[in-house]
Amino acid sequence: MSEINLENVEVAFDTPAGTVVAVSGVTQRVPAQGFVSLVGPSGCGKSTLLSVIAGLTKATGGQVQVGGKVVNGPDRGIGVVFQEDSTLPWRTVLDNVRFALQVAGVDKEGQLERARWAIELVGLKGFADAYPSMLSGGMRQRVALARTLALEPGVVLMDEPFAALDQQTRIFLGAEVRSIWQRSAQTVLFVTHDISEAILLSEQVWVMSYRPGQIIDVIDVDLPAE
Ligand code: ADP
Ligand code: ADP
Repeated sequence: MSEINLENVEVAFDTPAGTVVAVSGVTQRVPAQGFVSLVGPSGCGKSTLLSVIAGLTKATGGQVQVGGKVVNGPDRGIGVVFQEDSTLPWRTVLDNVRFALQVAGVDKEGQLERARWAIELVGLKGFADAYPSMLSGGMRQRVALARTLALEPGVVLMDEPFAALDQQTRIFLGAEVRSIWQRSAQTVLFVTHDISEAILLSEQVWVMSYRPGQIIDVIDVDLPAE
């Protein structure tokens, strides 16, 4: 069971202009298999907090635990999806997903099986042999999602994965992410600057404020009966 526990997390950056406190005193919990959104204005510290949970940035204070283990570096059990298009253009959709599994040390047979499963999960079944350049931005983000989900991480962290897409595609993919989450056993933390997107998707919304990166409100969303 992969719950996320944040205990008094602080991140300060040393810059030529002085110390920038990006995250301050964050104590929160995402229950195992929960879906929490983190919202707040640009520059308030959302990406930094996500990066700390992913083990990509070191906290300068406090502690992060995922599944009861202290996070102090990247971990296979923690998957991340970023905003930027991170697909490899010279590899097909299938090979993009397979490559991630290969890097993770999955054997050849397992690579193919899990890549096909993940590609179908994100609705790209007919596009396994396509190259990313032939796909729309939304479809490329589906590839990025498939690549992360194929690793079957207990925790999925998403940093504005659809921010670069048009409104309609965003709503559509958001609903898809929610539906995939409902069918999986994953714990999800979703970063967005769009409060309506956050409320639509998640069970709980954390509201972060600008300087010094504190969570100032927690909203429990009443989910409609499915
Ligand atoms: P958000 O994701 O909410 O847009 P960020 O986490 O990217 O916010 O940034 C929070 C603050 O920390 C900003 O003031 C940003 O400039 C600063 N910051 C982020 N990363 C670094 C870094 N590597 N070095 C210095 N300052 C940083
Ligand atoms: P976002 O707003 O989408 O969270 P940013 O554009 O703020 O992302 O940051 C992109 C990258 O630049 C991140 O890796 C972040 O750590 C880094 N960064 C942000 N602000 C600064 C800064 N003031 N100094 C150095 N690096 C920074």
